[in-house]
Amino acid sequence: MPLKFYNTLTREKEIFTPIDPPNVGFYSCGPTVYNYAHIGNLRSYVLADIIQKTLEFYGYKVKRVMNITDIGHLTSDADDGEDKMVKGLKREGKPFTLEAMKELAVFYKDKFMDDLKDMNIKSPDIIAFASDHIKEDVDMIETLLERAFAYKTSDGIYFEIAKFPDYWNLSGRKKGSLENTESRIGENLEKKNQADFVLWKFSDKNNLGYETKLGKGFPGWHIECSAMGVKYLGEQFDIHTGGIDHIPVHHTNEIAQSESATGKKPFVKFWMHNEFIDTGGEKMAKSGDNFTTLRTLIEKGINPIAYRFWLLMAHYRTKMNFNYSALEGAEIALKRLYGLYLGLGDTIGNVHQEYQNKFKEYLEDDLDTPRALTILWDVFKDENIRDADKKATVLDFDKVLGLGFKNLKKEAIPENILKLAEEREEARKNKDFKKSDELRAEINSLGYEVKDTAEGQRVSKI
Ligand code: AMP
Ligand code: ZN
Repeated sequence: MPLKFYNTLTREKEIFTPIDPPNVGFYSCGPTVYNYAHIGNLRSYVLADIIQKTLEFYGYKVKRVMNITDIGHLTSDADDGEDKMVKGLKREGKPFTLEAMKELAVFYKDKFMDDLKDMNIKSPDIIAFASDHIKEDVDMIETLLERAFAYKTSDGIYFEIAKFPDYWNLSGRKKGSLENTESRIGENLEKKNQADFVLWKFSDKNNLGYETKLGKGFPGWHIECSAMGVKYLGEQFDIHTGGIDHIPVHHTNEIAQSESATGKKPFVKFWMHNEFIDTGGEKMAKSGDNFTTLRTLIEKGINPIAYRFWLLMAHYRTKMNFNYSALEGAEIALKRLYGLYLGLGDTIGNVHQEYQNKFKEYLEDDLDTPRALTILWDVFKDENIRDADKKATVLDFDKVLGLGFKNLKKEAIPENILKLAEEREEARKNKDFKKSDELRAEINSLGYEVKDTAEGQRVSKI
């Protein structure tokens, strides 16, 4: 069976084939680094990680690029409001300079990279700061001006959506519709159409910006991703990810400007989007008050991998409501899996083909991780498989799931428990089952369990 992914662009599950097999060009929209990432944001990167690990499981060679938005993102995804980075500078009492902006960006980018590491998310091959790619933005904007896809107003350079008839394809909105384009608020009368979006914003009263041939200012958030995507992955590439909030504005605009500048369609073959994490029915947003960071979870003693595991328990296109009791349930289940794994002994046998086929069948169905996890449980429960083969199979699945089985360390079993276990083994050999049962009960009461396997008894923590 081939891999199938749901493509937002066609609204269908499609067979995945890259433009240049076995290579896959993959861009994931990175964080806007004016604050800590919240656990909702991290869902986007777990999705990117599962896509990458699945592709590698299938033998593809993935090149993943992720941007760091450190300039040009306004508080509204359209063109209104304050620059998010300026907001960050204000919050932290920092001066309004490009240097201070970069310092702020590097600080939150480093924190973000720590989160990725803690969640076992593979670092992208290329991490690109928007502020290091002004030239690429300017070049693309110049091309758009030359080809008459863009026009100038007193406050910036805008993309004219009327020149791009496919503008509404990704979001599926009707042509001419302005629904959800936040530009309606605070109409800019110089724009030809309120959905026209900014490519270059001239410096405002802060006089902050980059001196370029377009004038002093900042690139728009959307052009940054197009310019960096084209620079590192070419004019057309295979996969682009982000949260569903990016569909109607950011990714719609990326397609319009990239395809207009390069003349090549499609800019990206597969657009994949994760659903949101809410808290108590409310959207979790970096700019709001109700956001939880991974650090908060860690400070509460929760293993960050338990959060990854909880995310994988739902399909990435299903909305999830975050609460601590659900996360606790996931952590208990994960500990149980870890315990089962540690009870498997040291030998690594062969991957069980039938289970692997089943596991792959679920991945192939648009990355159905909840069902893939049920197969993991089935492997542990199956009494007809040798422990060594179970171990090989679990490690094989974990190349995609990333739950960290490989690095689990057996806790040293205390001396008194080992002594009781030895006595029990002796009693069993002497067929003194009453005594052996009593010793087992005593071991259990001390928080350990003994399992009789073909290779002898095995002691582990309950
Ligand atoms: P930002 O740093 O705000 O640009 O967002 C980084 C990524 O997180 C983007 O792909 C967003 O679409 C995604 N995102 C933002 N909020 C949430 C949320 N509550 N749940 C899931 N993904 C989110
Ligand atoms: Zn982006």
